[in-house]
Amino acid sequence: MRFLFLFSDTGGGHRASAQAVRNELSRLYGDAAQVEMVDFFKALGRWPFTHIPGWYPAMVGMHGVPWGVGYHLTDRKDLVKALSHLMWPYTAHPFRRVLYQNPADVIVSFHGVPNYALRMARNKYIQKTVPTMVVALDLVTVHAAWFAPGHDLYVVPTDEARERALACGIASEQVKVIGMPARRAFVVAKDLPQSEARTQLGLPLEEPMVLLVGGGEGMGPLKSVVCALAEKFPKAQLVVITGRNQALYEQLCQARLPVPLRVESFVSNMEVWMRAADILVTKAGPNTLAEAFIAGLPLVLYDAIPGQEDGNVSYAVDHGAGVWAPHPDQSAEAVMALLADSARRREMAACSRALARPDAAELIARDIWQLGLESWSTLGGDLSQYYGKDSTLFPFF
Ligand code: UDP
Repeated sequence: MRFLFLFSDTGGGHRASAQAVRNELSRLYGDAAQVEMVDFFKALGRWPFTHIPGWYPAMVGMHGVPWGVGYHLTDRKDLVKALSHLMWPYTAHPFRRVLYQNPADVIVSFHGVPNYALRMARNKYIQKTVPTMVVALDLVTVHAAWFAPGHDLYVVPTDEARERALACGIASEQVKVIGMPARRAFVVAKDLPQSEARTQLGLPLEEPMVLLVGGGEGMGPLKSVVCALAEKFPKAQLVVITGRNQALYEQLCQARLPVPLRVESFVSNMEVWMRAADILVTKAGPNTLAEAFIAGLPLVLYDAIPGQEDGNVSYAVDHGAGVWAPHPDQSAEAVMALLADSARRREMAACSRALARPDAAELIARDIWQLGLESWSTLGGDLSQYYGKDSTLFPFF
């Protein structure tokens, strides 16, 4: 069966989630599940969409103020609908090309932006019977664009996100609370002993370890937070992971700090780093939070992208798993307080673990497969009935 996953590298989370579900489909169904992952912004092939993944770190810059304003102004289902229709003459043909180049039994969106256009393109250019599904990737404050109507199934990570879907007009029987899909590596590593994780990473076994991350792009005032913490002379091993932010990586490697600091650029074994840590200092990215819940880590949240990540902060704080410390000095104070209070750390770690949904990626993969089976029972897997006989020969539009 063939599946098309739409995502974009706007941050690291959309790709991470889509990959987690793709890996589960392969694990469960082997070669019978063929997944094509498409960064739809790039695949549309038109200005300015192709540039958006590259522009994203700058777009959420300036403390996220312009982004937050844009988010709140557009966070209405009627406005999303109007904007999507306004853009349609410009996006329709590129969207059709993307769909025809990747014929699929089920189309799954791991991003909020394409969902309205996806529904329009599905209804106009392929058949309405091709199942489409949305996997929403924010914990609470999910933008209205995610919940464009007309898709077959909406998977959300929390009850709060479900309420949001219902408020956007989605029928309750189409919304399923499953969780944020995390890579299986996090599930496998969830009981990895801390000492073993540290041995693997070449870290000291005795001292507490504070892990500092800023999402896939190393975003927010991560450098200020690291410096503020180092100046407090914590008796702990500090590790900062800068993700794809190469400039930050180089700055931190060269920084003269009063305490030793281990600096890593993009890592592909985040689950091991998390199991090695005692405290995670992070921006409130939904994937990182979901992974930290599986690892059972107490959180110090130093930043949140306004709008979409605001609810992630309240979710972690209200459930006792995190502390909101939006100024670098506050973050440093919060870490120092937690280092001095192991009982509080244990309490927060238990709250964090209680929020974990380690089987989310598997359950989502099973739902996608189920939708695919239903589609096959109608058409017997003959995609040409959806896309036309020459579906794979559609290079030009
Ligand atoms: N990540 C990673 N290696 C790194 C930095 C980040 O694998 O060096 C992953 C992290 O584990 C998470 C994702 O990137 O899965 C970041 O997603 P999140 O939603 O937290 O933030 P975003 O980058 O989307 O803003």
